[in-house]
Amino acid sequence: MSGQNSYLLCDFHMHTTWSDGALSLRELVDLYGRTGDFDVIAITDHILREKDWLGRAGRLATLGRRSFSVTEETFPAYLEAIRQEAERAWREHGLLVIPGAEVTKNHSRARKNAHIIALGIERFISADQSPEDVLREIRRQGGISVACHPQPRPRRRFELETTYLWEHRNDVVDLVDVWEAANRDDLFAVTSLKHYPYIASSDFHKPKHLHSWKTLVRAEKNWESIKEALRSNVDIAITLYRNGAWNKKGKKTAPVPVLAPATT
Ligand code: ZN
Ligand code: ZN
Repeated sequence: MSGQNSYLLCDFHMHTTWSDGALSLRELVDLYGRTGDFDVIAITDHILREKDWLGRAGRLATLGRRSFSVTEETFPAYLEAIRQEAERAWREHGLLVIPGAEVTKNHSRARKNAHIIALGIERFISADQSPEDVLREIRRQGGISVACHPQPRPRRRFELETTYLWEHRNDVVDLVDVWEAANRDDLFAVTSLKHYPYIASSDFHKPKHLHSWKTLVRAEKNWESIKEALRSNVDIAITLYRNGAWNKKGKKTAPVPVLAPATT
């Protein structure tokens, strides 16, 4: 029957104010929902290592007002908030919302860094364990793992490089469910994905990131069917969701979606 299903437009990597995103969960759901284009989004806020230096710097800079990370203590409340928003998103926008997290291992050396998205998990996963153990724990919970931005990124923005998993791809190949072949504006062309399962996503942090790489999945609009499609990785495509015509892209006049303030 899969040949008769149409493609679902999906974004599997996004951050809210539960970590370092600019929008609340509710604002994010409405931003995507109001386009009328999206079928599936996954909320994947950061879980940082306890001693993550970027998280510490961020907390200092905001005088402790923001945590930049979901923690073991806040994780149940985070999942519950996603569950409630998922109900509303389905009712109001026909949008399927998947719970997840980005288990974020930052070190001072890029080659040790790994960011791993865990989709469809039910319990907290600590970033203070090896990438391999994180991947195994995602499997144990029946979730889907995504090796995020596995290649060096352009130097134009300040971002940590996270190349551990790609450099160890032969060792982790059976543990990683999908690789993030494109992230926001970047396409990791050298990844050579012929022999690897892949997706693409926005790594959403602010409204302008709505326009970015996305995944098309041919599946039914429920998590079990999508999970199966991601694993088998046959009916998958990536697409650049643009803000109007390509040759207008980047002009300052291009409108950024405006959000109504959240009411609750
Ligand atoms: Zn990341
Ligand atoms: Zn991210």
